[in-house]
Amino acid sequence: MTHTPFPTGTILGYPRIGPRRELKRAVEAFWAGKTSAEELETTARELRAGTRERLAALGLGREDSSIPEAFSYYDQVLDAAVTVGAIPTRFERLVAEDGTVDLAGYFTIARGEGADVPAEMTKWFDSNYHYLVPEIGPDTTFHLASRRLVNEVIEAREQGFVTRPVIVGPVTLLALAKPAVDAPAGFTPISRLDDLLPVYAELLAALHAAGAEWVQLDEPALVSESIEVPRAELLAAATRAFEVLGGESERPQIFVAAPYNDLGDALPVLLNSPVEAIGVDLVRGAVPTGFETSKTLVGGVIDGHNIWRGDLAGAWETLESLRALSPNVAVSSSTSLFHVPQDVTVETKLDPRLVSWLAFADQKVGQIALLATALTEGPVAISAELAEATAALADRHSAPGVRDGAVRERAAALTDADFTRGDYTERLSAQDAALGLPPLPTTTIGSFPQTGDIRRERARFARGEITEAEYRGAMEDEIRRVVDLQEEIGLDVLVHGEPERNDMVQYFAENLDGFAVTELGWVQSYGSRCTRPSLLWGDVSRPAPITVDWSTFTQSLTAKPVKGMLTGPVTILAWSFVRDDQPLADTANQVALALRDEIADLEAAGIGIIQVDEPALRELLPLKLADQPSYLDWSVGSFRLATSGVAKETQIHTHLCYSEFGVVIDAINRLDADVTSIEAARSKMEVVPDIERSGFGRGIGPGVYDIHSPRVPSVDEVTELLQTALGSIPQRQVWVNPDCGLKTRGYDETVDSLRNILAATRTVRETL
Ligand code: GLN
Ligand code: ZN
Repeated sequence: MTHTPFPTGTILGYPRIGPRRELKRAVEAFWAGKTSAEELETTARELRAGTRERLAALGLGREDSSIPEAFSYYDQVLDAAVTVGAIPTRFERLVAEDGTVDLAGYFTIARGEGADVPAEMTKWFDSNYHYLVPEIGPDTTFHLASRRLVNEVIEAREQGFVTRPVIVGPVTLLALAKPAVDAPAGFTPISRLDDLLPVYAELLAALHAAGAEWVQLDEPALVSESIEVPRAELLAAATRAFEVLGGESERPQIFVAAPYNDLGDALPVLLNSPVEAIGVDLVRGAVPTGFETSKTLVGGVIDGHNIWRGDLAGAWETLESLRALSPNVAVSSSTSLFHVPQDVTVETKLDPRLVSWLAFADQKVGQIALLATALTEGPVAISAELAEATAALADRHSAPGVRDGAVRERAAALTDADFTRGDYTERLSAQDAALGLPPLPTTTIGSFPQTGDIRRERARFARGEITEAEYRGAMEDEIRRVVDLQEEIGLDVLVHGEPERNDMVQYFAENLDGFAVTELGWVQSYGSRCTRPSLLWGDVSRPAPITVDWSTFTQSLTAKPVKGMLTGPVTILAWSFVRDDQPLADTANQVALALRDEIADLEAAGIGIIQVDEPALRELLPLKLADQPSYLDWSVGSFRLATSGVAKETQIHTHLCYSEFGVVIDAINRLDADVTSIEAARSKMEVVPDIERSGFGRGIGPGVYDIHSPRVPSVDEVTELLQTALGSIPQRQVWVNPDCGLKTRGYDETVDSLRNILAATRTVRETL
């Protein structure tokens, strides 16, 4: 083992998609068969080389292990699973005779092939990044199945760098895994720890031989209280894992990173283990106390989860308090920087004043390099920069728009009544009378396929090639088609199809005060998918109605009720970068008030059903149990604030994108929406018993069509799903709808699927 000191400044990871989404394009070209694996590998190698040079130029060291080797073609959890040979049985054919999986095979596991479904995808801790859930059974034969990470260390060395390889650690890998499909009841992946550790040990030895002096094991599972493995078992696994890996002699020094929150009672486990460095998240978590150690403590004081330049002097103070615990303190980002866009200086359309308050990944690296200088030379060495950062913070505090008196007065005057609708039974009969819907009413979640034509029109409008009137005309033509189609198919509650929306959050951000949008601020959502979160920087208000004209135009085309469509406050917050200078609850209420006005205008314009989507309600759920009740209070409260201003005849719908109903059922109940649609098709209505058990009494549409796949569900299949739902839930409550919006689907499969849904509904209605 080598004994080089841990670098004074580092980051836990860096955006891997490329400054212009080069990796996305290269990967998609490979999938489309337009390029070879070699060409893709060349692009990826160039991107990695560029990243190393860039990080060195920004102030990280070339040879001191400060640059993380944290590339991924698709997903870091899949990388770890493939590295240790945790390949689902249905993909075993992809494993070559020498035990390895090539790039094409790796992508096949990620994306599925024919009848072999891909691994399940789920949200990575409290972020909007999705990872692929590893599948591990009693028969999974762990072995070193990929040397990709080792090769990247060698590649870096050839470029003149000593980098620090990063891999998801064994405890987190097992804690996030689900039992393989053929595993017996009661089996838990974490029970395979002792079989897995030798493969990690072998990997560490190979990394060591390749010249790595430090390795980073990401163990965020240690901070979460929301994962299935019981805490005591998790801590026992961590104790065992680091004892075994730390006991190896042929290895780099081990840095365990624990981003996303406080380590809590896992910190003593790490302190008592043989690992050499521990990374703590001091943005979400507090500075630990009550011990002294000679291990390196890596203080994550620069927020990897958000885009604010933040309080540099405060970050320095936090590092100083960490120095009371260990003579060896280093500075880092609180999480990997892959949650934020790469570089704010390429944004030419943002207000320069706003830009002066921001730090994207590159700017954060710069901040870390400064703090590292302060750690070695004392804070006077960076006093000018500290003063500048403090001045920027003060400027942000006092800038126009950050605090808007009218918005604040309105929020301060809210009372309980603003968060409450009338009695549900009364609402139900008023709505029944007003809407006259058949039993098992049919509807969709909002969007219809976003065709190439729609996107082209939007791009032409953005480039100024067509006028606003022409753009509007094109969208209205699309709405007409969508309405005609829904009438012809026979749906009961119609939608306009959302063609005018680039994205369900950005669209609202562009139309509300207090937000800004970037041109190139892409962050990876999953695989090659990226999103461009908006920046919520100031007090939020609505300068003018947003959706009202679109909805009234749509309603003018049909005698059927048209559902107005809005994105809820929690989802708008979750999928934007949100100001960090006030509680999220306050910001959520501001957004809610803007939506409340929109809802009032929709209602006044004759729209009798309004859906407020909250697919991200579950996603922001805090990782610590103690933090969850207050989160659920304000998130539910903001939804209620948005929706409680309407008459009892007006039907409020909400849509949640997932079926993990159990965890938040009580909160969903408290939303007090008249109708809730959720995902249920993929899990074959597994959620229905939960709904029954909870006594949920209002309208519920468990999805009958899995829109994540091009597959068309048959009439029989939908009939069976509906019968399953009706087996547990009173018929009066049941709505019929797809799992989610249709925007990623093609028209052919959409039309066939909706026809089958209607046919099934008619059959089932006859049996009522
Ligand atoms: N109304 C949105 C749509 O149909 C909902 C999308 C979502 O839940 N993510 O596209
Ligand atoms: Zn959805």
